[in-house]
Amino acid sequence: MTNFNCEQTQTRVFDFLSNEIDEQSKQGVLGHIASCPKCELEYEIERKISRAVSSSSSDPDSAVRFFTQVSDRLRNED
Ligand SMILES: [Zn+2]
Repeated sequence: MTNFNCEQTQTRVFDFLSNEIDEQSKQGVLGHIASCPKCELEYEIERKISRAVSSSSSDPDSAVRFFTQVSDRLRNED
């Protein structure tokens, strides 16, 4: 079985989450994050980001609304 190091894992996390990865690399990523808390955290962060991106792309207006609300709030604080 492939044993990835931290660098190999982190460069593949995004591809892993996009399902653009071969089965062997997938096993290497999973095997590494199971034994490395640092890369597991990295994986969790990437997973949340990719989920947020995919949910905002199904509803692009919500992202625009969010940025509009934030910029309005910043303007009102002047
Ligand atoms: Zn690691």
